[in-house]
Amino acid sequence: MARIRRWLRKIMQSLSGWWQRWQAPGRFLCDSCRYDYGDVCRRPERPNATKCPDYRRR
Ligand code: SF4
Repeated sequence: MARIRRWLRKIMQSLSGWWQRWQAPGRFLCDSCRYDYGDVCRRPERPNATKCPDYRRR
C-alpha cells in the first residue's frame, strides 16, 4: 500500500509540474506569478523558480 501511495504522489507531482509549466508562458514561473511583487513571496527559488507549489498565474 505504501508503494502505491508513493507512486501516486510521484505521478501527482509530475502532473502538477507539467500543469505549472503549461500555464506559465515564460522560462521562469515567477515571471507570471501573482505573488511576484514586494515581500509577498519569500521563497529562496524566487525569481527563477521552475517548480513551485505556491505558483498562481496572474
Ligand atoms: S510563489 Fe513561487 S512562482 Fe510565485 S514568486 Fe514565489 S517562488 Fe516564484
